[in-house]
Amino acid sequence: MGQFDSTLAAEAPMNHATAANVGMTENTIYDKCMALARNLWWAWHPEVINLFRDLDPIRWRQLDHNPIALLKEFTPERLEARAAEMVLFSRINYAYRRLKEYMTTNQTWAATNAGVLGGRPVAYFSAEFGIHESMPIYSGGLGVLSGDHIKSASGLGVPLVAIGLFYDQGYFRQQLDDEGYQAEEYVDTKVENLPMEPALAPDGAPITVCVDTRNGKLHAKVWQLKVGRVMLYLLDCDVEGNSPEDRELTSRLYGGDERIRIRQELMLGVGGVKALRALGIYPSVYHLNEGHSGFAPLEVIRERMHDDGVSFDDALREVAQHTVFTTHTPVPAGHDRFDGGLIEEHLGPLRDQLGISYQQLMGLGRVEPQNEGEPFCMTVIGLKLSRRANAVSSLHGYVTRRMWAHLWPWRVEEEIPIGHITNGVHIPSWLAQQMTALYDRHFPAKWMYRMGEADVWQHIHDIDPGELWETHHTLKNLLLAFVRRRVSRQCRRRGESDDIVESSRNLLDPNILTIGFGRRFATYKRATLIMSDQDRLSDLLNDKERPIQLVFAGKAHPKDEPGKQFIKQVANARKNPKFNNRIVYIEDYDINVCRHLIQGVDVWLNNPRMPLEASGTSGQKAVLNGALNLSILDGWWAEAWSGNNGFAIGNGTSHVSDEITDRRDAESLYKTIEEQIIPIYYDRDVDGLPHQWIKYMMNSISQLAWRFSSHRMVMDYTMKSYIPAAGGLSCDMNLR
Ligand SMILES: *Cc1c(COP(=O)(O)O)cnc(C)c1O
Repeated sequence: MGQFDSTLAAEAPMNHATAANVGMTENTIYDKCMALARNLWWAWHPEVINLFRDLDPIRWRQLDHNPIALLKEFTPERLEARAAEMVLFSRINYAYRRLKEYMTTNQTWAATNAGVLGGRPVAYFSAEFGIHESMPIYSGGLGVLSGDHIKSASGLGVPLVAIGLFYDQGYFRQQLDDEGYQAEEYVDTKVENLPMEPALAPDGAPITVCVDTRNGKLHAKVWQLKVGRVMLYLLDCDVEGNSPEDRELTSRLYGGDERIRIRQELMLGVGGVKALRALGIYPSVYHLNEGHSGFAPLEVIRERMHDDGVSFDDALREVAQHTVFTTHTPVPAGHDRFDGGLIEEHLGPLRDQLGISYQQLMGLGRVEPQNEGEPFCMTVIGLKLSRRANAVSSLHGYVTRRMWAHLWPWRVEEEIPIGHITNGVHIPSWLAQQMTALYDRHFPAKWMYRMGEADVWQHIHDIDPGELWETHHTLKNLLLAFVRRRVSRQCRRRGESDDIVESSRNLLDPNILTIGFGRRFATYKRATLIMSDQDRLSDLLNDKERPIQLVFAGKAHPKDEPGKQFIKQVANARKNPKFNNRIVYIEDYDINVCRHLIQGVDVWLNNPRMPLEASGTSGQKAVLNGALNLSILDGWWAEAWSGNNGFAIGNGTSHVSDEITDRRDAESLYKTIEEQIIPIYYDRDVDGLPHQWIKYMMNSISQLAWRFSSHRMVMDYTMKSYIPAAGGLSCDMNLR
C-alpha cells in the first residue's frame, strides 16, 4: 500500500493534539507558568502576556519579552510570593486551564470541515518562521507569514506540522552609526531560554538526520516547539560529526554565499523529510512555502521508489499530486538559482538512488530541460514537482503566470496552472489589546472564533465614533512613548549630547497626522519616495494648521548597499532643520517594532514599484487597528482598495522607465496626502472628531479585516489545496 493511500484514518499514526499535550499535569504556580511559557500559544494571548509582564515589567522589557528567561530569574518560592503580592493566582490558573482546554478540544473548524486530513498532517516547510520577537528565526514578510500560517492552522485545528531551520544567531540586529550607516550585529540566541526541546523518535531517542553529499555527510539534530496545537520542528547543524564549518551552517539566516545557501536548503528539504520519517510522521500533503524547500519532494520520491519499487516517473507523478507549492517572488533575481556543480555536489548521491542522469536532474530545475547554460532554479523545481501551485495575491498570480509561461509553451497565459491565495495576517497576534477590548464590547460573543467571517466585522458600524477614535488615540500615544524611548536610547548609545537625548523625549505630537513606514529597505520598496521633493515635503511637515509627521523603520539586507544608502537618507533627516524633527527613524525593525507602528499610526504608507510587491502584509495588520492604508495599487491592496476604505497612490499602472514611474508615483503620493488625506483628517466637529476619517476606518475594518486574515487564508489553503492534494486529486499542471 502506498504511503499516500487515501484510506487515511485507518492507519493514523498519531494524534498530534494529544502528542503535543503530553505532560500537562503541572500543579505548582511555577510549573504552570513554565507550561504557559513553553507553548508559544501565549504569544497571541494578551492576558497571558500581561501576566508575564506583571511579574516584573522592567525585566520583561529588558529580556525582549521572553517569558522563559524571565521565569528563570525567579525561584519557585519567590515566584509564589510575587504572584501572591500581585494577586495573580486566579489569572495564572485560568490561563493554564484555557491552554489545557485549547490543547484537548476537538471542536474546531477543521474537525467539521477538514476531517479527511485527520489521520495524516500537512507538512509545511519554510526557511523562516516569525512567531514572536523573542524567537529571532525570521527576517521579514515571508517568515511572519509562515508564523501567522501555523498560528491559524492551530486555531482552526488543521492538522499540520511545520519544518524549518534553527538559526542560533538568527537574523542580525541593526544599529546605525553616527552617519546613519547600518551596522549588523549577530547575537547568539540562548537555546535554554527558548521553548525548544530535542525531538524524540517513537522509541524515545533524540532524532538526528544525515544527508549525503558528494564530499561528506551533513548532520543535524532536530528541535521541537509547540505553537499552540502545531508542532514546529527545527533542524540544527551545530552537532558533533559535522566539520567546524558545517556546524555553523545554520547559524545565520540568509547570511552566507550560494554554497551555504544550497546546503541550508538541502538540509531543510531533504533533511526535513528525513526528520519527519524519524518522528514517525507520514504527511498527506507537503506544502513548500517558497522554493527554499524545493528539494523535499525528491527525498519523498526516493522513499517511494525504495519502499514500493515503483519507477521514478510513477513516483514523481504520485508525489507531485500530494505537493503544494507557494511562490512569493515577482522579482526575477529573487529566485534561488544554483549552477550544475553545486547541484551535483549536493544532490549527486540522491540522484544515484533515484536512478536519473545529471541532465535529468538539472532538467527538473530548468525551464528548458536541455539548455546546458541554464542554472538550476528552486522555483522551477517547485513548480515541476507539485500539482498545485499558487501565488500570494490576485495581481501576483497574474504576474507569476506571465513570468513562468514559458514552462508551458503550448498554453495561453490564462491557462497557466498557477492560481492565487491572497496572504492574510493572524488577527490575535496583531490586534492591539485595547482594540480587542473594544471589539469584545460590541461584537457578538466569541467573535474571535469566527474572525474569518464577514458578518462579524459589520458590527464595527455599531461602535460609537468617539469611542473608536479615543481607542485609536490611546494606541497612538503608546506608539509615541515607544518612539521616544527608542530614539533617546539610540542617541545615548551614539554618545550624543544631553540636549539631543533630552529633546528626543519630546519627539512628535499626538495631535499631528502621523504616517508610518516600516519594512525591509529593499530598493524596490522605495522608502525615500516621499523625500524626493524636499521642499514639498518640508511644506507638509511644517504646515501651521495641518502638519504631518513621519515614522520610519526597516533593515536592509547586509549586502544591499543601495538599501543602506536609503536608510542613511531617512535616518539623517533628523539633522536637516527643514524637517523640524518631524521625521524619525527607529532602529532594529522586528515584530515588536512593527506591532507598535501598525497599532499606533494614522496612516500606513506602502509605495513599492509595481508589480514587485507580491502581497505585503503589514498593511493588513494596520487595518485591524484602524490605521488607514496609503498604498500603491500593488499586491493585496490592488484587490482591497474600494475607494472608501483607504487611499491609493497612482492608478495601478507603471511605465517601462523606472525613472518616469518614480516621478509619477511621487507626484501622486504628494497629491493624495495634500488633497485627500489632510483635508479629511483635519476636518473636525465641535468635539474634535474627524467623522469622515472615522467612517473610512470603519469601512476599512469591516471590508478588509476578515478577508485579509490568515484564518481565511488557511481555510482557503485547506479547501483549495490541502484536501484535494491529500486525496491525490490532480489539477492539470501537466509538466515534464
Ligand atoms: C509584517 C512584517 C513584515 C512584512 O511587511 P510587508 O508589508 O510585507 O513589507 C516584515 N517584517 C516584519 C517584522 C513584519 O512584522
